[in-house]
Amino acid sequence: MRVLVAGGGIGGLTTALSLHEAGIDAVVYESVRELKELGVGINLLPHAVRELSALGLRPALAAAAIETQALAYYTKRGRPIWREPRGLAAGYQWPQYSIHRGRLSTILAHAVRERLGANAVRTGHRIAHFEQDDDGVTAHFVDSGTGKTIGSDRGDVLVGADGIHSTIRRALYPDEGPPRFSGVTMWRGVTEQEPFLDGRTMAIAGNWDIRAVIYPISREAAAREQSLINWVAEIRDEEKTNWRWEDWDRQGSKSDFAPAFRDWRFDWLDVPRLFRESDTVFEFPMADRDPVERWSFGRVTLLGDAAHPMYPSGSNGAAQAVLDAAALTRALQTEPREDDALCVYQAERLGPTAEIVRMNREFAAERVLRLVDERCPPNCENIHDYVPLEEMEEIARQYSQIAGFDRSVVNDRLA
Ligand SMILES: Cc1cc2nc3c(=O)[nH]c(=O)nc-3n(C[C@H](O)[C@H](O)[C@H](O)COP(=O)(O)OP(=O)(O)OC[C@H]3O[C@@H](n4cnc5c(N)ncnc54)[C@H](O)[C@@H]3O)c2cc1C
Repeated sequence: MRVLVAGGGIGGLTTALSLHEAGIDAVVYESVRELKELGVGINLLPHAVRELSALGLRPALAAAAIETQALAYYTKRGRPIWREPRGLAAGYQWPQYSIHRGRLSTILAHAVRERLGANAVRTGHRIAHFEQDDDGVTAHFVDSGTGKTIGSDRGDVLVGADGIHSTIRRALYPDEGPPRFSGVTMWRGVTEQEPFLDGRTMAIAGNWDIRAVIYPISREAAAREQSLINWVAEIRDEEKTNWRWEDWDRQGSKSDFAPAFRDWRFDWLDVPRLFRESDTVFEFPMADRDPVERWSFGRVTLLGDAAHPMYPSGSNGAAQAVLDAAALTRALQTEPREDDALCVYQAERLGPTAEIVRMNREFAAERVLRLVDERCPPNCENIHDYVPLEEMEEIARQYSQIAGFDRSVVNDRLA
């Protein structure tokens, strides 16, 4: 069997590695001419690390990433609300990794080229269209720089792992239109500084309207007793109509968000300084798409952000793409017919990911921030008088269960 994968992001590269491990031939066609270390921080939850470890990638991840050991929520004045252990500290058999997205993609691309051959990732190939028949599927590519046709390839299956602006999804759902804006704009960057808290905590501060998400992402910086700190500044403005999504590397301006955080000087971190000392700022509208009823159409299917783009709340985007890759491989291994396999894959993954898309719209993972903001009077003495600890525990438990990283389920898969 030969699988064509369109898109060499986290999902596409993991799919190629996973298929190869199962003895299935795969080739990745990536639109950009050169794979650069793009993006900022990303999280891999234990269920995704479990799958990547099965592909032999844990040593490379451990050498690059921070093993995150806690997630902590704060008010916009920096007052602690809730702290939960994460990864190994929470009793998982696998860690949670916080890592630079570009670094993760380099680790994956390196492994694909080493294991599948130097030609297994074909850059500069943007899929333009495809057609399928009873015997296979043919994908046609254009040069991403010139737009000129540069050839085609034929396989048994075509996987659309081509991200939130997926060409393959557009061919399957031509009337869908652009992603759906949440009203929240995110500005993202990285800053190297001295570690905050224990140097391994992901901190989220704020409320429904304004938030900062901050976590360290580099083992190499930690070895120098520094932290490469990923930060995201988020501001909600539901009236905003002039949002644009050009690309992931669109640069933003500090003057558009930093003034709103000017008082966020906490005893555990000086947030304005963090923003000030960062070189580059990227701006993205937080956007997703409505879940669709089908990803699989004969020999063609969708995976990762092409299938289920979601808000980055709850650290799930990359993790869910990794889980898709594992499920798709299992289905192709066990079903004799390719089209049946793609339906089995869809049956396993579409429902759970649609549920996460819907939960993330409510910022379900971070609901405590909203509850504290709504219920606690200013300067209230004890936050837990207004939002009981048990309610916070229940919110965390529910999210991990629906997002598929409930500890007992993840560890149970050891068997
Ligand atoms: C450059 C970049 C930077 C990002 N930075 C962050 C970040 O900092 N933090 C974060 O949380 N998430 C980031 N993301 C998104 C994150 O990687 C995904 O949400 C998640 O990892 C799911 O991965 P994916 O492989 O489905 O999609 P993506 O990682 O988006 O990968 C899709 C890939 O498909 C390629 N592609 C697109 N169209 C075509 C086509 N027609 N033919 C062939 N290839 C095509 C793209 O170039 C890209 O490499 C970024 C994505 C990209 C592409």
